[in-house]
Amino acid sequence: MKDLVIVGGGPAGLSAGIYAVRSGLDVVLYERGAPGGAILNTEKIENYPGFPGGIGGPELVSRFEEHARDLGLKIETNEVFEVIPAEKHYRLRLRNGEIATRTVLIATGTGPKPLGVEGEERLRGRGVSYCAICDGAFFRDQTVAVIGGGDAAVEEAHFLTKFASKVYLVHRRDALRAKKAIQDRALANKKIIPLWSSVVEEIKGEDAVEEIMVKNLKTGEVKPVKVDGVFVYVGVKPNSYIVENLVETENGFIVTDVEMMTSRPGILAAGDIRKTPLRQVITAAADGALAAITAEKYISNLEN
Ligand code: NAP
Repeated sequence: MKDLVIVGGGPAGLSAGIYAVRSGLDVVLYERGAPGGAILNTEKIENYPGFPGGIGGPELVSRFEEHARDLGLKIETNEVFEVIPAEKHYRLRLRNGEIATRTVLIATGTGPKPLGVEGEERLRGRGVSYCAICDGAFFRDQTVAVIGGGDAAVEEAHFLTKFASKVYLVHRRDALRAKKAIQDRALANKKIIPLWSSVVEEIKGEDAVEEIMVKNLKTGEVKPVKVDGVFVYVGVKPNSYIVENLVETENGFIVTDVEMMTSRPGILAAGDIRKTPLRQVITAAADGALAAITAEKYISNLEN
């Protein structure tokens, strides 16, 4: 029987692993893909303390991973499909096999939320993308549209100007949601053309994206805009399905107490998957640390 199984290998899961190993817990971390989480898709992290001038997302998280492995954290490629409550422990159904554990930490993060318009699904991978760092280089000297007005959309629009000759930033309001520093830099970039108070109604193209139908919400006018690519950044959806019937959630995000325990004792959550006012690397790492310490306390209470 494990003390703790960590599900998810982003900053929250890896930080939890560091604290759990150092607390002497018998712990394993399962990650279904490559460890790293969402920041693998972030070119540069500019607000993680200790790195003036910023650090690449993949580099930062590979340091987290190296640190955790150095301390002895076992990181395995596996997927958890189901968490089954049992007497004072949980059974986890895995891609291959099953494991019993006293506590489980859900650190599975979020995935991109689709826009939900016609053409999006059909042209996914053929000009429609949710990851500028993965696909941006395909659009050298071409025109792309970024949909959304949050940190991700505005930051990635700026990143895409490295490749694209023109980047439309299509936002449904006339003020961006993104942090001011991110906004100021993007709006000063001449390659970025904001389309304010506008929504994309359809993505068109035969075999690849050719144009988007953009509706101006103030005038009601719908007009085609020629683009070669569409990057959708309209928010995130939580990967909470493995525990959604077991713990309290709000819009799919897991509700925890201040110590990261969910409504079901023994199941903890940390990082972007949590109902939280701030989703950043630093808050995910802090959540992970606290979750590991809470797991340790919970286990010693079980034993006494
Ligand atoms: P977000 O903050 O939820 O922003 C989503 C954006 O998409 C908003 O501007 C929203 O418009 C727009 N939107 C939502 N649904 C839409 C629809 N159906 N059609 C058109 N537009 C739509 O999501 P995010 O930018 O992906 O960020 C997710 C989390 O990660 C946030 O907590 C963010 O702070 C964090 N993050 C931080 C950084 C950073 O600090 N550098 C970078 C990336 C992400 P409205 O504004 O009108 O609601």
